[in-house]
Amino acid sequence: MSPTDPDPHAELRTRAVDLDARSPLAGTRELFELPSGVVYLDGNSLGALPRAVRPALADAVTRQWGTDLIGSWESNGWWDLPLTLGDRVGALVGAAPGQVVVTDSTTVDWFTACSAALDLRSDRRVVLTDAASFPTDRYVLDSLVARRGLELLPVPVTGLRAVLAERGAEVAVLAMSHVDYRTGRLHDLPGLTAAAHEVGALAVWDLSHSAGVIEVGLDRADVDLAVGCGYKYLNGGPGAPAFVYVARRHLPHVVNPLPGWTSAADPFAMERAHRPDDGIARMRIGTPPVLSMTALGAALSVYVGLDLADVRSASLSLTGFFLDALDELLPTGSGVAVLTPRDPSARGSQVSVTHPDAPRLVRDLAARAVLTDLRRPDIVRFGFAPLYVTHLDALTAAVALAELVGDGAATAQAPEPALVGC
Ligand SMILES: *Cc1c(COP(=O)(O)O)cnc(C)c1O
Repeated sequence: MSPTDPDPHAELRTRAVDLDARSPLAGTRELFELPSGVVYLDGNSLGALPRAVRPALADAVTRQWGTDLIGSWESNGWWDLPLTLGDRVGALVGAAPGQVVVTDSTTVDWFTACSAALDLRSDRRVVLTDAASFPTDRYVLDSLVARRGLELLPVPVTGLRAVLAERGAEVAVLAMSHVDYRTGRLHDLPGLTAAAHEVGALAVWDLSHSAGVIEVGLDRADVDLAVGCGYKYLNGGPGAPAFVYVARRHLPHVVNPLPGWTSAADPFAMERAHRPDDGIARMRIGTPPVLSMTALGAALSVYVGLDLADVRSASLSLTGFFLDALDELLPTGSGVAVLTPRDPSARGSQVSVTHPDAPRLVRDLAARAVLTDLRRPDIVRFGFAPLYVTHLDALTAAVALAELVGDGAATAQAPEPALVGC
């Protein structure tokens, strides 16, 4: 477009500028370091870098580790980081203090939480899960049921209630993700938790794609156990520690299947027999990775003074605007099909589309500095992290996609880009 051409997207652009100006999160983007000119739509896989992280890490390395040395376990709060961070993460997912611990990875936490839930319902032998769950969640469940001689029942989400109605008396645990990582569909956490409870089963949720961007309301929904990821919308950095939630009513009975020394009531007594801590610390395993925890702690500071309801409404505004822009801009016969529900109550914080040339689209979008990701074979995911993504970014991405699928451009074949993330 030359300076004299009229802007072909003037109306959408005006709307985007207006929505950005009126956003309850206006200004939070300044809390992040982002390369200029990049439209970053992968915060659902690796959150961007909050400015607060760099100085916090420098302090942890230089002063705390370099100078204060071993005394830092107490004087700099290292030992309690899993619990202090746990309460801060808990506040973001609707958990009162004392029920969340930040520890290990999502995969490990999913194992400990699901294993603990099964022990709480050891008289039953069926584990119910969403058939479309993230591979790690499924692999862990496969392993758990194989080791215990139980039965795993993977069911499409739309069929979960029917199975609970038919075989509810056998179901020990309903274990599933809050948001489908492929489609971006948000599942009914309160409703499915209540349905599980009605038949005497427990509900364990993986909040990897909702923590930090959706009001999860764990306590309000009476969820039993949950886990979530530290490096997606919580921006804790690559491989950031994850978290486990155990509802207060279960804490006295819950058993950690990996009872390392830090989960003991008095770790430094070095007792011969394991005596678990009374509280959520019983879900700890080993020594916390202090540098990673420091990064996550600094990252969480972006939420200070924010209301999760505002974060959620900003997220829905972004995904809704992006869907509207696609409706307006995609040429007929573009080959693009939207996978993500239009219904806001069933939408997480990403928009996924399918296209036969998805690998080429992801690569060509990246060449235009629009970073998305591919889920093979044909899904392009656009993640909207509302603290640093704007409506103008959404418009840029929609315009780029429309151009790339227009005018027969979609017929060129391309090798698959090498991209990782989850
Ligand atoms: C991202 C994600 C994970 C990540 O697990 P790691 O242990 O961090 O590799 C697990 N489960 C779900 C549903 C995820 O979206």
